[in-house]
Amino acid sequence: MAKGAFFNVPLHGHVNATLPVVRELVDRGEDITYYLTESFRPQVERAGARFHRYESTLEGGPNAGSALILPARMPGESRQVLAQLLEAVRAERPDYIVYDPMCLWAWMLGQILRIPAITFRPTMAVDVRSGQFAAFLKSRSAAFAGPMQQAGKELAELMREHGLPPMDLLGMLGQAEPLNLVCVPRSFQMGGDTFDERFLFVGPSIRPRGDAGDFPFEHLAGGPALYISLGTIFNNWPEFYRMCFEAFGGTRWRVVLATGHAVNAAELGPIPGNFLVRPSVPQLEVLERTDVFLTHGGANSLMESFAHGVPVVVIPQMAEQPLNARRVAELGLGLALEKETVTVEQLRQSVDRVSNEPGFREKALAMQRDVQVSGGYLRAADAILEFRARKAA
Ligand code: UDP
Repeated sequence: MAKGAFFNVPLHGHVNATLPVVRELVDRGEDITYYLTESFRPQVERAGARFHRYESTLEGGPNAGSALILPARMPGESRQVLAQLLEAVRAERPDYIVYDPMCLWAWMLGQILRIPAITFRPTMAVDVRSGQFAAFLKSRSAAFAGPMQQAGKELAELMREHGLPPMDLLGMLGQAEPLNLVCVPRSFQMGGDTFDERFLFVGPSIRPRGDAGDFPFEHLAGGPALYISLGTIFNNWPEFYRMCFEAFGGTRWRVVLATGHAVNAAELGPIPGNFLVRPSVPQLEVLERTDVFLTHGGANSLMESFAHGVPVVVIPQMAEQPLNARRVAELGLGLALEKETVTVEQLRQSVDRVSNEPGFREKALAMQRDVQVSGGYLRAADAILEFRARKAA
């Protein structure tokens, strides 16, 4: 039995896709420890791994839950987390580590302790040499120039302290190891055929979550079903939820709206009768019954949608979501709207178009087939075990 360690940032969108892989590895006899914050203990233990806790600067405090400029926060976060974990991981001596590329401190642990490492990306892979990506990053970082510059200095200092080669924030995002698992099919990946054999596009890593409880799925029956969610991070946008009431209240649509935990549904005003509003819903089961998904375009949400053959309307909020939205529009999997300019009329028209024009659903069904052949968590687990066996040989 070999020992594996999973490292991650405490964000659902980064953790969710790893859990089916962890479960599969444990079922095949691996001894897995997952390093995360306390709030993730239940999911980690349900997946069968040993839980090892660390304290994160990304949780608690004034910026709690904010991933606004996550890359810029990672040098400071890494300093804190390394102080907690370096000796513990040295003592544990895992045979291999698996980490999310956003998790800078995990890459550092691998380098310092010389442990074979694998990246696991819930989002599209990043080719820092690609013009399209560089342009995107430039447009994003212009808005956060100050914090990014400060973070660059902190990063340089941190690398020096640990005797590691200089790295910039771009290098951090493009981090690649001898094996890189990517949770989108190659056909969805921007510039998919330019990635070499170190990249394995396993597609979404989805397994039933058993989180449906007594959710009233019957609400979705009796008309076309629309599911609305802005994910788990950038979802505090009450005006948008009210716009949805106006756009779809009293229409033929049966609507499920997941607001996230930051918004109090009571403050949204009267809820139309064809709406079911919850802070959080069992998304996979809801998608099984959905005709159109109005989403923020987080990578997990998009892939979960296509895994169910559901076309989308995307309103990107933050991070790499604008890139995902562009990819969706390019591939005809749905339509993309702009957060800053979106209107009630646009919402209604876009959802109706995606529902009425068969091309969108056909493309989503073709992507569903690509998802199925990509292999998901089973292929990811195979690849990790092959990698581990090669390293041990
Ligand atoms: N999710 C869920 N119920 C909800 C909203 C979200 O189960 O009501 C899950 C969803 O299935 C996905 C994750 O939370 O796996 C959101 O990840 P994504 O990358 O789409 O967005 P993020 O939350 O990271 O912005």
